[in-house]
Amino acid sequence: MAERVALTGVRLIDGSGRDPVDDAVLVMEGPTIVAAGAAIEVRLDPDATVVDASGATVMPGIIDAHCHLGGNSHPDEDSWVLQPDRYQAIASVAQARALLRHGVTSVRDISVNGTHLRQAIADGLIEGPRIVPCWRGLSRRGGHGDANGVPVELVRTSHPWGIVADGADEVRRATREVIRNGSRCIKVWASGGGLSENDPEDAQHFSLEELRVIVEEANYVHLPVAAHCECRSAARSAVEAGVWSIEHGEDLDEETVELMAAKHISLNPTLVLLTKWAALSKDYGGHYGKPYIPGGGPVPEDREEMLALLHDRLSSNLLAARDAGVRIGVGSDSFSTELTPYGEQTLEEVRALVAAGMTEMEALVAATRSGAEILRIDEATGTLEAGKSADILVLDGDPLDDISVISPESMLLVVKEGVVVRNSLFEAAGSAWGRAEVGEATAAL
Ligand SMILES: [Zn+2]
Repeated sequence: MAERVALTGVRLIDGSGRDPVDDAVLVMEGPTIVAAGAAIEVRLDPDATVVDASGATVMPGIIDAHCHLGGNSHPDEDSWVLQPDRYQAIASVAQARALLRHGVTSVRDISVNGTHLRQAIADGLIEGPRIVPCWRGLSRRGGHGDANGVPVELVRTSHPWGIVADGADEVRRATREVIRNGSRCIKVWASGGGLSENDPEDAQHFSLEELRVIVEEANYVHLPVAAHCECRSAARSAVEAGVWSIEHGEDLDEETVELMAAKHISLNPTLVLLTKWAALSKDYGGHYGKPYIPGGGPVPEDREEMLALLHDRLSSNLLAARDAGVRIGVGSDSFSTELTPYGEQTLEEVRALVAAGMTEMEALVAATRSGAEILRIDEATGTLEAGKSADILVLDGDPLDDISVISPESMLLVVKEGVVVRNSLFEAAGSAWGRAEVGEATAAL
């Protein structure tokens, strides 16, 4: 029988949105939580390994509902295609490990590597989060997943996360190909994303008819569709077509928000990514075209003023969706180690939701229960309750008081499916629990 391990004296934030419980106990056995609640309600097994974690907070592992384990180092689309695929596959292992070491225990990945990483993690060969793989996402010719500066033949074979298709017949076939490669969710770029001149964010890239075909094919095999929508019309068409989640969605009109709430369509706002991207635009000394400010109007010449305007627009859009009852997730959109560091950017996104006006509890629910629902893994994880996977974080401090506690420096313990990933808590308490598995994984981030 697996060892029973109990954390006592902790503040329990169970991920459901319920009020925290002080002086709580969490008991794990092997990969599973067997009890979580007020100390008075949990009977402690005399054989259990008990560690007093007074002053710390326990919460579910964080869920990143949007990232790309493509193995790319640089934020340059041509290099993604030209770099050897095998190098990228190897680099993606490091990206997966970095996510997990930052307390990200589940992710939805859009890349060619995800289905294989998922298997290697399940086989116990490498360390990484639970992966819901999308494989490649559908892009139109010349769109966000078609690197315009390299020969099209190379894009076909070596794009780390895009598959090109145009028209109803091709998108049907491409969706089936994505499914054949082990995808558990279909990703589509319904609008541009600002990678090239051909790819502006304010342009819709797939017609309502094409989006309907993709949703129809996904629905045949009971899979959800995640649609990248940076402009209003793309979001509106995606919502009408019946997608499961809107990615980015920084320019939603009132009717679209209402439809999203009515149809239970989720939003992954990716605030950190959108802000970084605008800050890097050519007009402000960077590399990537003009900054995209949803809602239009004049763009301030001063960089800080431009970023302040963007922050206002992103925040009001997000809060309107929240107020309408749209489920919100946490998506880092990490896609290159240099620009969007894996794990770090996920934690930054949790903090950004609070900076945009959500409450600390709302941000934590977005990062846990809502993320699990968006990934359709909520039967296994996302909340701390008996029977769920032992995916837990123990934090030095209380993120409800101060969201900056959601940081690597505050993580005393990270456990995924009962296996210790980081552990300073038990070692400090003189317990050997988890030490055998810790090994290299306890190295500094
Ligand atoms: Zn993305």
